[in-house]
Amino acid sequence: MELIDTHCHLDAPEFDNDRAAVRQRSGAAGLVALVIPAIYAPGWANLLALCASQMNEPMLYPALGLHPLYLDQHHDTDIAALERVVADHRVVAIGEIGLDFVVRELDRTRQQQLFESQLQVARSAGLPVLLHVRKAHDAVLATLRRLPVVGGIAHAFNGSLQQAHQYLDLGFRLGFGGMLTFERSTRLRRLATQLPPEAIVLETDAPDLTVAAHQGERNSPEYLPDVLATLARIRDADPFDLAAQTTATARAVLKLP
Ligand SMILES: [Zn+2]
Repeated sequence: MELIDTHCHLDAPEFDNDRAAVRQRSGAAGLVALVIPAIYAPGWANLLALCASQMNEPMLYPALGLHPLYLDQHHDTDIAALERVVADHRVVAIGEIGLDFVVRELDRTRQQQLFESQLQVARSAGLPVLLHVRKAHDAVLATLRRLPVVGGIAHAFNGSLQQAHQYLDLGFRLGFGGMLTFERSTRLRRLATQLPPEAIVLETDAPDLTVAAHQGERNSPEYLPDVLATLARIRDADPFDLAAQTTATARAVLKLP
């Protein structure tokens, strides 16, 4: 079985003490690739260096961008820097970028500016994007219609079925993670059963948003099989077929080998 964690912050300080061991256990759990999205410019160099240390599986693939939750740490000059770094390095996506309307202190105009500038970088580089969207799907979808990109992933998707289909029409796939493993996620589970299989990719968002079996602990990419198992059970699908399908989808949308 080959699995891809399409959203994992393995560069986070939470993994400083045992990053190599986590990577090794993830490989043993069937993961062949991890996509590591950036949150802000000061982290880019470290993230690229981590992904360049390709000594064993799973392979690590970088995405670079400016996360909307870290708005006050971004500078206008970061956009030109992003353009330069993306031209000089192999990255699989621009991310994670988007709009977060849950945290009220985050200036929406400024978020929108940064989001659009980064979509422009993705457009000129021909790269997909990794989206962080909370209570802002309609605004994000409207922006994507105005500034279309080659596609990408709406990470930790939690919108409606209708919004899901709008993302699919724009070339996006939808990321499902640990939230799915909680019995109480009834709305999310229903959504995950209503989508066509080719709409779905798997993710952990480690070290955040852990799976039910490890509630209260640090999340880890090695728990991705829990997400697969839940998804297979609620969709009444064969786990091996679902693994093959979601991995093929992740490879296609992010052009991974
Ligand atoms: Zn994230």
